[in-house]
Amino acid sequence: MNTQSPSLILKPDRQKSLLRRHPWVFSGAVARLVGQPQPGAVVDILASDGQFLAQAAYSPDSQIRARVWTWDRQDHVDTAFLRQRLQAAISSRQSLLDANESNAVRLVHAESDGLPGLVVDQYGDLLVVQLLSWGVDHFRETIADLSLELTGAAAIYERSDAEVRHLEGLALRSQILRGSLSQSLYPIHEHEVKYLVDVAAGHKTGFYIDQRANRLLVRQLSRGREVLDCFSYSGGFTLNALKGEAASVTMVDDSAEALALAQQNITLNNLPIDKVESIDGDVFKILRKFRDQARQFDMLILDPPKFAPTRAQANQAARGYKDINLLAFKLLRPGGVLVTFSCSGGVDAALFQKIVAGASLDAGVHARITARLGPGPDHPVALNFPEGDYLKGLVCQIS
Ligand code: SAH
Repeated sequence: MNTQSPSLILKPDRQKSLLRRHPWVFSGAVARLVGQPQPGAVVDILASDGQFLAQAAYSPDSQIRARVWTWDRQDHVDTAFLRQRLQAAISSRQSLLDANESNAVRLVHAESDGLPGLVVDQYGDLLVVQLLSWGVDHFRETIADLSLELTGAAAIYERSDAEVRHLEGLALRSQILRGSLSQSLYPIHEHEVKYLVDVAAGHKTGFYIDQRANRLLVRQLSRGREVLDCFSYSGGFTLNALKGEAASVTMVDDSAEALALAQQNITLNNLPIDKVESIDGDVFKILRKFRDQARQFDMLILDPPKFAPTRAQANQAARGYKDINLLAFKLLRPGGVLVTFSCSGGVDAALFQKIVAGASLDAGVHARITARLGPGPDHPVALNFPEGDYLKGLVCQIS
């Protein structure tokens, strides 16, 4: 071992999760730091007896004090290493996804692709990156150069403005990183539907790429149905309900910009705007209003924002999910379908199902799960990183 390497030495018996290859070192597990690494520098992680465990990116201010790059002490975390990781991530998408389906693909899904804190989304010839940890921030320029080289993309926009950067002690950033952004609304296509993506100011990197297959499923279930799309954002589910010949679609969001973009997307696709009702409001209130008006629908979609980023907020989140799912069940006609999601890392699939079950019971409906939903294959979950398993959904039909 190179005794010069800066190292984090763990407390006695705190190496277990690393031996199971979980890629995070929490601050509470660290006994001491040897050397004076800069934020983002590569450090060795050693057990209390000096046993080598991993090489990891050092993050001095975060509760996640280090994120593992490699379990192999012979590796050098350098340009060649990053090239190999990026290439592997990109190749896996090519083998799992049909390029005709869409030109919007998540190329790199952070820890699950061995690149902790890095997200790279491809929208045609534009890449949008998020550098969410010190480790990848440290390699920003290298990652930018390699990403262009390996994809042949023309430009990169950096959306490092997610709140989690604060936890790392990193400033928020939203800027062009390579090339230029020719238009503020970037056109993409997915399953024969076009979308304008607000790369610079939209949510996440501008589009919920993870819902690709679920949008298609909604299209297949929509024919002749009156649909209520709650938390509709730029209209992903609404467009597909219309494409699937829904009788009508009511979309609800509390962002006027999102609703305006959804309308633009409907027009762009020549879908029947006259079948669409657009409501700028709080879903929690609108659902109650519809209940009081005895309004009914044949299909209801609930795709709320994260209520619980971590397990600590799970109880409060559970109340939120229960509330909207209960109201949703009450608004459905017999035979109606609820398509309900949670993207809270702190609420696992079993808990989510329990919450939805409680909601149906309290709503007094008999409901059966007809499909379990998750993100597409470009959002893989490494088995050693269960935290990556965030999006879960259920399709429930009521009798
Ligand atoms: N279904 C969308 C993604 C939803 S993201 C898609 O597939 O593209 C969550 C959306 O909920 C955002 O557009 C946000 O503006 C909206 N939102 C968050 N809280 C809300 C609330 N209480 N009422 C209405 N909309 C809300």
